[in-house]
Amino acid sequence: MRTPIIASNWKLHKTRKESREFLNQFREKVKYISETEIALAPTYTSLDIVANGLEGTGIKLCAQNVYFESEGAFTGEVSPEMLAEIGTKYVIVGHSERRQIFRETDGMINKKISAVFEQGMKPILCIGETEDQRKQGKTESVLQNQLRNDLRGLDPEQVSETIVAYEPIWAIGTGESASPADAQAGCKFVREQIKKIVSKEAGEKVRLQYGGSIKPHNARELMSQPDIDGGLVGSASLDPDSFAEIISITEDLTKTP
Ligand code: PEP
Repeated sequence: MRTPIIASNWKLHKTRKESREFLNQFREKVKYISETEIALAPTYTSLDIVANGLEGTGIKLCAQNVYFESEGAFTGEVSPEMLAEIGTKYVIVGHSERRQIFRETDGMINKKISAVFEQGMKPILCIGETEDQRKQGKTESVLQNQLRNDLRGLDPEQVSETIVAYEPIWAIGTGESASPADAQAGCKFVREQIKKIVSKEAGEKVRLQYGGSIKPHNARELMSQPDIDGGLVGSASLDPDSFAEIISITEDLTKTP
């Protein structure tokens, strides 16, 4: 049985004051959640606020990015050691905005994943196709290439501990989520590939998230798909009510026979 995991991605939103306000409301709303793992990914400047605010709650701290070197002349970057030092448990790696806007390559993403594991944290690896690639029928080959290149050199245990978020780029921030059937097909393909490339056991154990315009109104159908073990939530995670509702729907599903 895979424990569902719902993670937020606040992107470039929320000051320290706003992060504090969010937490004050959010903590109360998810107090009763016991079967669903929750992770919050604020900006770097709010990481310590969120770390302190989450103490004793079981909610995990997640960073939105990391660099793969531990120190040196890399202006503007933050190392895995620095994130681990403040209690970070998960790191989002390879988000499509980092791939597209900041030109991150699969090679860099692969190094980041190893560096995250070296510091005892776990990566949330984002993969997904653009709208054009989808129209050209290339979704599966894009996912296959990203998985092969991003997970290269990891041992099966590490792969099974990676969270892979299938995020079709055309569904991110657009308000138009993939249909539950398409989201399931993408995740099923990812699981099958991991079974093939790594091992059957890793494919069965690895937790897969869907990401792309998850909202309270579509969460139930998306989260009830057999190969979807959780969600990566952008816009809807900025509001404590809607994020807590998505989590509560997911929790509910763990209790439905
Ligand atoms: C994301 O940024 O990973 C994401 C899924 O965003 P949204 O939920 O806003 O589509």
